[in-house]
Amino acid sequence: MSAELPAYEISGYHYEWRAEVDSDWSLAAERIAGKRCRYTVGPGNRICGAEPVAALNRGMTRDGLGRVPSWWAYCGEHLYGRRIHNGVIEGPVQVPDEAVQP
Ligand SMILES: [Zn+2]
Repeated sequence: MSAELPAYEISGYHYEWRAEVDSDWSLAAERIAGKRCRYTVGPGNRICGAEPVAALNRGMTRDGLGRVPSWWAYCGEHLYGRRIHNGVIEGPVQVPDEAVQP
């Protein structure tokens, strides 16, 4: 994946990749299957349309049975700064420089 840690850092802190636990992101195949990347590119609300690798719960929506999560799929280029590493979603987390490395 092409994601990089943010360049901006506060003195005394740095970014590290950390697995997102209890995240709204999912790698479940059934939440991605048959979908295309929903990321908006350019004017006119055109979507990316690439093959997705993950899905994000954009909130609850209604279907015939009640309120269910609304899974939007995204490709590897459009994970909002996250990456997939060793089969899990990771995001950049700002940690103190003296923190013990996991
Ligand atoms: Zn995309």
